[in-house]
Formats: sequence, C-alpha cells, structure tokens
Amino acid sequence: MSCYRAETSTLESGTTDGRDHNPLALMQPRAPAKTPVDLRNGARVKAHNIAPHGVYMPNYNVLTPHMRSPEYVQMSTAAAITLGIMKGRMYRCSCTRCLNLLLTYPEGCRANCAYCGLARHREAERDYADRNFIRVDWPAVPMAQVIDIVARDGAASPFHRMCISMITHPRSDEDTVTVLKQWTARIDPSAIPVSILSNPTTMAREDVKRLRDLGADIFTVALDAATPEIFDRTRGKGVQSPHSWKKYWEILSDARDIFGPQKFGAHIIVGMGETEHDVLALVQELVDLGGHSHMFCFFPEKGSLMDHLPATPRDQWRRVQLGRYLIDYRGARVERMKFDGEGRVTDFGVPAAELEEVIDAGVAFRTSGCPGKFADDISACDRPYGDSPPSNIASFPFPPNKRDIRKIRRQLRIVERKD
Ligand code: SF4
Repeated sequence: MSCYRAETSTLESGTTDGRDHNPLALMQPRAPAKTPVDLRNGARVKAHNIAPHGVYMPNYNVLTPHMRSPEYVQMSTAAAITLGIMKGRMYRCSCTRCLNLLLTYPEGCRANCAYCGLARHREAERDYADRNFIRVDWPAVPMAQVIDIVARDGAASPFHRMCISMITHPRSDEDTVTVLKQWTARIDPSAIPVSILSNPTTMAREDVKRLRDLGADIFTVALDAATPEIFDRTRGKGVQSPHSWKKYWEILSDARDIFGPQKFGAHIIVGMGETEHDVLALVQELVDLGGHSHMFCFFPEKGSLMDHLPATPRDQWRRVQLGRYLIDYRGARVERMKFDGEGRVTDFGVPAAELEEVIDAGVAFRTSGCPGKFADDISACDRPYGDSPPSNIASFPFPPNKRDIRKIRRQLRIVERKD
C-alpha cells in the first residue's frame, strides 16, 4: 500500500493547455445532483446494525452505524502508516509529523464544498467512511487505540503535532472537546501540541475559548476560498452548502483574540479562480492580524463537484507559494510587490539576492501548516501528496533537493538564475 493513488488524467497532473493561471470563469463547479431521500443522512449505513471492530479500512463496505466520533476518528493514510496501523511506503518520505484526526459520523459532513471529497452530495454514491479526501483514503480507528500507541511511544513518537479536524455536523463541537480531553489526559500537550482545524459554521466564541482553555495550541479556520465571491460559489449558496464568509471571519477574529499572535491561521486553496494578488493580499491581511496562512494547491478531487476542472498551473502556484513565504516569514509586503493586469506577480518586492537565497533554501515550496519541532517555518503537517501527484509535486513534504529546485525555477519562469 502506498500513500498516493496512481493518476492518469492530464487535468490532475497540472497540464493546463498552456494557461498560466486558472481564471474565475473557468473554475465553475458542477451543480450538485439531488440525493434520493432514502440515501440521505447516511441512511444506507444506518439501515444496518453491525458493530465496528478495530480499524476500519475504506472500501471494507461494512455498514456500521456505530462507527462515530468521539469513539472513532479517521486519519490520513500517511498518519496511519506513521502510527503503524497500516503498512505502506511514502514516496521520498519516511513519515508524517502531524497526526491529523478527522471526526467521523455515518451521516458524514453536512456541508457541500465543491472541491471536497467529503461533501454531502456524495452520499448517494459512496458511504462516508469509504470516501477519498485530499487524494487519499482515511481509515477509521478507535480513539483509544490511537492514544494508547502515542502514549506507549512517549518521547520516541514521530509526531510533532496532533490536529483535530472538525466537519460540519451537529455533534462536532462537543466531540472535538471530548477528543481533546481524552488526548490531554494521557499525552502532554507541551510534548505534542494540538491544533484545531475548526468548523466555524457550528461554532460560537465560547467554543473557541473552551478549546483554548482545554489545552489546544493553535486554532485554524479553513477559509479555503480567497475571496467572498469564490467562497459563496464553492462553499455557500452556489452549491447548497451552509457556510458563509462572514461567519468564518467572525470565528477567525475570535481565534485571534483568544489564541493570540502566531497561534491562529487560515487555510487558503490557490487556483479556484482568484488572482495571485487576491491571495497575497489575504496572506498580508492575516499576517497584519498576527496570524499565518496555510496554503494548498487546488487539485481536482475525484468525485467532487470540481473534478472536471484543471489543477492549478505550476507557475501560478509557485509564484503564490513564494510570495506567501516572503510575506509570512521574510517581512515582505504585498504593497511592495508588483502585479500585471491579470493580478500575476511580476516583482516580489525584495532584493534579487534575497529572492535567490529563498528559492535555493527551498522551504518556501514545502507543505505549509502549523509548525513542528524543526523550525517555525517548517510545518509539522506535511501531508504528502495531498495537493498533487508525486510526479508533479505542488507542496514538497520533504526538503526539495537541487534537482527539485531546478524544476521549481523552471516553473517560476519569471525568475532567472544569475550564475
Ligand atoms: S466543511 Fe470541510 S469536510 Fe465538509 S465538505 Fe466542506 S471542506 Fe469538506
């Protein structure tokens, strides 16, 4: 078993018919089909009454309505391999440093985000526990078993961070609290800190505070879309999904007040129709508020409402990755950068020598996320190949080598090496 799927579609490999960015007009999601009443809310699973036993691998197709959080959580294939629950290898990496745990319910996520493999519209086609998400399978594991393994490994644990990812479900606020309490009762949160990937739609300010008081270290909000228009199109009314830009910003602002500087952030997906300037202006806004951005390259997830659309062209992605790193960690400012008429970066607003040094260091092109134990600008959450196939890596889950850097330079196009 490996932690990635073989990809065949040219759309998935980043081939984009010569375009160097994904324009708004192109990136229109399909309309969700109507789900038959007898298949809604996990009905197929709930019609059976089979008790779950141990680890559940996607495609077991055992319809087990009792497999739900907080007793069960799902985890990425990479986390399951690192934890020793699944056998497998990861291309060019030995482990992931973040144990990402996803709440799970037979009803699944009740939102319908257009780019997401977990979206509600899939309930007619595929049971929740069997769905792909950010390109991989997510086995379901008893939470007690997860904690036993991490507690047993103690200081030898490979994990630098744990993350509880909420989904949109009436139980997810309460169950996040339970999972966090279970974790901190056995694992010292200063040894393996906890991040919360929140679901603002069901949350209030008191929920944010409660998670901080219970020992969560970092709170993030998955804005995903870089503009209100794209948010509404991909996560709101455009796809019959309950999220709103306003509510997401309310909770982000609560997180800023409650968790404080450098302890909150937002996820952004690049290439869903926004301009490079839109993304970097948002990155700047987050930095000015005291937070960070965690950035991903749009990838057409199979089964999602955007699976017919092209992955983000690599030159658009690399320019935004580089701009984001300069703003987040090098004190660059979006106002000092230059953009062309279509919002593409033409000048990063830093001295040429600094730009060369940052590109050569390669950290700017690694997976972004909450920090681990290596350095502030190196993410614990390295999720290999969550936003690209390994044949055309978007976010590097390991330090890019010289050959990778040469490829990155070619993808950047506007950056000519001087020596
Ligand atoms: S809320 Fe999160 S898990 Fe649910 S559909 Fe949207 S992106 Fe996917």
